[in-house]
Amino acid sequence: MAKFYELTPSERLQALQAKGGISAEQARLYAQDWSLSPSVAGHLIENQVSQWALPLGVLTALPVNGRSHLVPMVTEEPSVIAAANNGARIARDNGGITVTVAPRLMIGEIVFDHLDQLAEAQALVTARQTEIFAQAQAAKPSIVERGGGLQQIDASVLADRFLKLSLFIDTRDAMGANIINTIAEAVGQLVGTWLNQEPLVSVLSNATPNVVKATVNLDPKTLATKDHSGLVIADKIVAASDLALVDPDRAATHNKGIMNGITAVALATGNDTRALETGVHTYASHSGHYLPVSTWQWQGDRLVGTFSAPLIVGSVGGAIGALPMAQQNLAVMGVQSAQDLQQVMAAVGLVQNLAALRALVGPGIQAGHMALQANALAIAAGAVGPEIEAVVQQLHHQSKDLATAKAILQQIKQ
Ligand code: NDP
Repeated sequence: MAKFYELTPSERLQALQAKGGISAEQARLYAQDWSLSPSVAGHLIENQVSQWALPLGVLTALPVNGRSHLVPMVTEEPSVIAAANNGARIARDNGGITVTVAPRLMIGEIVFDHLDQLAEAQALVTARQTEIFAQAQAAKPSIVERGGGLQQIDASVLADRFLKLSLFIDTRDAMGANIINTIAEAVGQLVGTWLNQEPLVSVLSNATPNVVKATVNLDPKTLATKDHSGLVIADKIVAASDLALVDPDRAATHNKGIMNGITAVALATGNDTRALETGVHTYASHSGHYLPVSTWQWQGDRLVGTFSAPLIVGSVGGAIGALPMAQQNLAVMGVQSAQDLQQVMAAVGLVQNLAALRALVGPGIQAGHMALQANALAIAAGAVGPEIEAVVQQLHHQSKDLATAKAILQQIKQ
């Protein structure tokens, strides 16, 4: 029987439907043209003149907290989805991934500059918290009705100069930028009247204490490659992880590989990729030294991988409601809440990292990557339809560059 990746797109949809991963209606929706209607496209952004298409693929079975997820991913980069499936297969063979999410609190910050009596201002704000809570609730009563809203207030002095109020806000299933900004501006105005001064800024922070932690516990035997034993690969993965802890140059690429998967899920679900990525990289640098957001260690004779970072996303709000494909993808993933989505994303990041490190310390990244990159080269050379596959076949045996792809295409056309 043909493997999933060997099927045509419509055969893949049929296979997913046959396995119960998607309904007939979802298969029909995936098969249709997913351009946005002009009115949606024209109202989402300013100066809209066109639309931009990217391919959507699937990670077929991601095991998270005892449940298997079909995960739609949007990316332009070859080998990302193949690697995610590869890493997920290894995780499945080892009992899956366990994910926990810290309470969903986002931070709004209100900062005052040029206060004469900094310590007194700090004490005043701390003493009048009840009024701040009331103002926050009045600014956004609907989030309180949903069980969220302002949970905690901290007042601190920065650099002997700024008075900073941190509002810790539960935004429930929304990523929360607009909710927080609404509350922060209202509270900023109120506190400004007490201090007789307007705040310098009243706005959300893209740093958050809402850290998501994913772990996988592997039998090293399951990591064996054609040329290396599982034990050798596992040892080298631990060494590569240790390297990323002391070498920010390596940590940067280590984390980029993780974001290959996480950002692809964010795009597929209509989330704000900039907010998400800023949150992750801010967390990666919080010690003052850029660190990897996943690490691999020996625990006895098992290899244990841990991903740990905030993932600022929502399952509602922002553009999600306006993008029908985002809603379809959340439904296909079986995601009911922002926490569910964070769990899936953390697990995607971890398996993406596992597959990348296994390739890096084993056969090398380029072996798999360039094989898939051949498709992009063939298309860039001008191949269309069946020519693409014909060019790719020949590129496998030759130098994988644009000039070679063009020469092969010319030969095929003759
Ligand atoms: P929205 O402004 O869309 O707010 C979310 C809304 O979803 C809530 O107000 C609520 O409406 C509704 N909702 C329905 N169900 C739920 C639920 N279960 N939990 C929570 N809310 C629910 O979006 P966000 O506040 O999330 O802001 C995200 C947007 O802000 C993104 O587009 C992002 O790009 C953008 N942004 C990001 C910034 C940053 O990251 N620095 C800065 C500024 C904007 P109701 O009132 O009916 O309860």
